[in-house]
Amino acid sequence: MFPISSQQINQNFYTNTYSPYTPQYSGVYGLPSYTVVDDSQNSPEQAVKTLGLAALLQVISSGLEKGSEFLSNKISAGKEFTTGENVVKVARDMVGKNNLDVTVGFVDEANKNLFSSRFGLGKEIDAVAKGENAFFANKLKLAVAPKSKPSLILHELGHAINAKKGFTRLLQGTRRYAGYAPMALLLANGLIPNNRQNGKKNFIERNAGILGFCAFLPTIIEEAIASGRGIKAAKKVLNNPAGLKILKKNYALALGTYILAGIGLGVAAKQSFIYNGKE
Ligand SMILES: [Zn+2]
Repeated sequence: MFPISSQQINQNFYTNTYSPYTPQYSGVYGLPSYTVVDDSQNSPEQAVKTLGLAALLQVISSGLEKGSEFLSNKISAGKEFTTGENVVKVARDMVGKNNLDVTVGFVDEANKNLFSSRFGLGKEIDAVAKGENAFFANKLKLAVAPKSKPSLILHELGHAINAKKGFTRLLQGTRRYAGYAPMALLLANGLIPNNRQNGKKNFIERNAGILGFCAFLPTIIEEAIASGRGIKAAKKVLNNPAGLKILKKNYALALGTYILAGIGLGVAAKQSFIYNGKE
C-alpha cells in the first residue's frame, strides 16, 4: 500500500469530501419545514391543488431517499473488478502520471487509528474502515478507500485529478453551494420587482424544480468525470481487464445516487415555493 506521508490537518475537511458511497440524498440539504402553507390569496380550488402538489412532492422526495438507499446497498454488495494489487498498480499510475500530491490509503479496522491521528479524522474514517465510504479531501491531500473495496480509490483519485484542472476544479467548487439553491431561488424571486403583478408566475416560480436540479448538475458532471478517469486508467494500465464491466457498473450505481440527489434538490426547491405560498 502507499506510505502515509505527513500532511497538514485542516478543519475545513467537510467542505471538500467526495463520497460516492453513502446515500447522497440524506443530509445534503435541509428540506423546508412543512408548517407554512399560505394560500390566503388563493381560491379554495387553488388551495386543494397546491396541497395535492405538496403531497405529491413529499411522496417523490421519500421515494428518492429510498432509491438512493437501494443504490447504496447495491454498491456495498457489489463485487471488486480486480485484485487489490491491480488496483494499487492503477492508483500508482494515476498518481505518477498526474503528479498528484495526495496520500493514498486503504483503510481497515487495524490501520484506521493511523489515519485518525495523522489527519484529525473521526467517524468519517470509521465509515471507510467498515467499507461504507470512500473519499478524497482536497484540503488534506488525502484519498482513502476501504481495504475491502479498494477499487473505489480510482474514482477518488479521479477527483484528485479534477481538483488540479481548471474546469473540473470549478465544478467541484460549486458543490458546497448547491444545497442552498432552494433558499437562493426564493431570495432571488423576492428581489424581482413587481412580482406577479399581472397574476402570472415568473420564470423562477415556474422553473424552481429544474433550477434546483441545475444547481446540482455541476456536481453530477464532476462525479462522472472522476469515475471516467478511474475507468480509463484501469483500462489502460491493466490492458482492458475482463472485470472492467463490473467497475463501470459500480461507478454507474454511485453516479445514480448523485442524480437522485440532484432530483431531490429540484423537488426541495419546488417545495420551498409551495410552502412559502408562491405556488
Ligand atoms: Zn465522487
